Amino acid sequence: MNIDLTGRDIIVVGGAGYIGSHVCKSLNQRGARPIVFDNLSSGHAHAVKWGPLEEVDVRNADALDQAFAKYPQTKTVVHLASSIEVGIGETHPAEFYDNNVTGALVLLRAMDRAKIKRLIFSSTCATYGETQNMPLVESEIQNPVSTYGKTKLAIEHMIQSFHKAYGLSYVTLRYFNACGADAEGDIGEEHDPETHLIPIAMQSALGLRGKMKIFGLDYDTPDGTCIRDYIHVTDIARAHIGAINAFDDGLTSAEVNIGTGQGVSNLEILKTIERVTGLPLPFEKAPRRPGDLSRLYADPTNARSVLGFEPQHSDLDNIIKTAWRFHSQNR
Ligand code: UDP
Repeated sequence: MNIDLTGRDIIVVGGAGYIGSHVCKSLNQRGARPIVFDNLSSGHAHAVKWGPLEEVDVRNADALDQAFAKYPQTKTVVHLASSIEVGIGETHPAEFYDNNVTGALVLLRAMDRAKIKRLIFSSTCATYGETQNMPLVESEIQNPVSTYGKTKLAIEHMIQSFHKAYGLSYVTLRYFNACGADAEGDIGEEHDPETHLIPIAMQSALGLRGKMKIFGLDYDTPDGTCIRDYIHVTDIARAHIGAINAFDDGLTSAEVNIGTGQGVSNLEILKTIERVTGLPLPFEKAPRRPGDLSRLYADPTNARSVLGFEPQHSDLDNIIKTAWRFHSQNR
């Protein structure tokens, strides 16, 4: 994707987080200036390296108005700020609806006041819910199980309404499993608490936590563990560049799955980590995690046709190598 974004200001809401910081690096590599809006509740100021940081909360309309006024050339907002820990969403749904849904509404209204008409929204395959129809196509029924998925779906609907009524152009990206780290080791995955398979396995291999648990070995899959579609975070960042390019070509609305189309089991992930790192990775069997689906993988056809998007960094060995480099250097 040789897309030139020289001289453009792009606002990245949640740009201090894992995916957001990789989006900022990709924008910078193509000549754009990423401007990060982030309240640093889960993101890190040290991950903001390619443009200014405005410390604003997405629910604060006045602060958003003031921050938008500082960057009047901006035509596009990327919105990634949200509460993402699925388990916490079940015990603290008010927080999730407030931060995610109220936050998106306040942001969309502030964008409207600032006359910014293009939005790239980070959604999730968790908006689909229980289905056996794999690979997942974008027209699949969305019936999310988790509060997290429900908040993301509510925002998708809000954006669709703003598109119809107010002329907002949007690309909603439904990410599958984001993983890996920047090839130069600049940034990586740093969640607290960590709940995701690959970083937990790496922390366990580094001796930073006890033996890891595999949630469910009795699924109806070839090795009994869940299957997911792991897409490198640098590829996810590239999908945003594809979305900006698609806007330039006249796209006004789209929902797009961002995955590789390949399903990989939890045990395959562990075996790859053992092979790449040369370290043993013992695990213990744990009960199924509530809400986990046995298989989830994308049909990537639409991403190819709408965004011109092909994964280039999502080979499993590269995912594990880049993640390992980040985790072992930042232990
Ligand atoms: N998983 C696991 N042990 C862990 C963390 C995750 O067995 O310590 C499993 C989880 O149950 C799921 C898969 O790894 O089957 C991917 O989970 P993750 O939280 O990384 O992503 P999700 O697919 O839930 O978004």
